[in-house]
Amino acid sequence: ARRQVGLPRARYGGRNAVTMLPGGGIGPELMSYVKEVFLHGGVPVDFETIQIDPQSDNNDDLQYAIMSIRRNGVCIKGNIETRSLDTAIISRNVAIRNELDLFVNVINVQSYNNIPSRHKNVNVIVIRQNTEGEYAMLEHESVEGVVESMKVITEENSTRLARYAFELAKNNGRSKVTAIHKANIMKLSDGLFLETCKNMSLNYPDIKFEHMIIDNCCMQLVSNPHQFDVMVMPNLYGSIVSNVICGLVGGAGLISGRNYGDHYAVFEPGTRNTGSSIAGTNTANPVAMLSASADMLEHLGHKVHCDMIRTAISKTLNEDMVHTADLNGTAKSTDVVHNVIKHVKSIAGRI
Ligand code: ADP
Ligand code: MG
Repeated sequence: ARRQVGLPRARYGGRNAVTMLPGGGIGPELMSYVKEVFLHGGVPVDFETIQIDPQSDNNDDLQYAIMSIRRNGVCIKGNIETRSLDTAIISRNVAIRNELDLFVNVINVQSYNNIPSRHKNVNVIVIRQNTEGEYAMLEHESVEGVVESMKVITEENSTRLARYAFELAKNNGRSKVTAIHKANIMKLSDGLFLETCKNMSLNYPDIKFEHMIIDNCCMQLVSNPHQFDVMVMPNLYGSIVSNVICGLVGGAGLISGRNYGDHYAVFEPGTRNTGSSIAGTNTANPVAMLSASADMLEHLGHKVHCDMIRTAISKTLNEDMVHTADLNGTAKSTDVVHNVIKHVKSIAGRI
């Protein structure tokens, strides 16, 4: 994980302060599980919780949340849903990523042994541009009935994304980076992205570089995901590809995602779902958010506590087979959480 530089971090007596944005839908219940697990594991983290109202027509709570992340350096978040088509209501999720310059989204997708899924032994890292491309939020109706939407690709952001991908591959013993694009149609924008990745690959002769068009990539992913190792791509393709890959190994409730810039880090479920339809039913799979909390502990340098939670999750899913309905199981969310806590307590007792 990228180390934070710059502002000093709030840290009282060896504890870390972290911003928590529960968001909507299942976000608040998932956050309550994270807090319960941290409590039983003696995790030295204090949360500063901020609830953002996405319907509000001012951005006061959004700005307050961003200020809190700037102060703490680290955030864990649920999805903040802005369904409104009113152009004055901006996406809070996009605003947070853009204002904090969280230029990269990283999702490690690895199969769990005992979870029913389309494919076994998938192990792919998706690296997605997180602040520009189709998410530039530059849309207008030029004349009635004609809407223009600007997709922005910059050499600067493509370069640091490509560097991030190759550095991550190098530091994690990965052998291949595949750039995903549609440069055959979007010759200038995706062309620049692809060229930048190609140029960056010249600095890493030990890592194989390949590139693939997004449509073929989707077909290859569902038929043979094992051919991929590290993948790097612009924003919108990243959104789609990461959801496809998470689906291959078991769905929205399993995999965590990380957002990094040079100064801040934000942790969340990999597919960024709100789960409005299952909120309050005790059926949401808590694993993706608990994994996000473990990623956060790794980033903060709390290795022992991170490993404790990862081990507890893996024992719960692979050995005890306590699975929620999305994994064809019969367990409730709280059954999974209590099973994780059982292991956390036993490991914490030995630390
Ligand atoms: P919606 O926008 O309707 O709330 P989402 O886009 O949030 O749906 O999620 C897509 C699908 O994934 C939904 O069927 C949702 O119920 C499911 N889902 C998302 N998160 C989880 C989770 N943690 N556990 C189980 N199912 C989930
Ligand atoms: Mg949704």
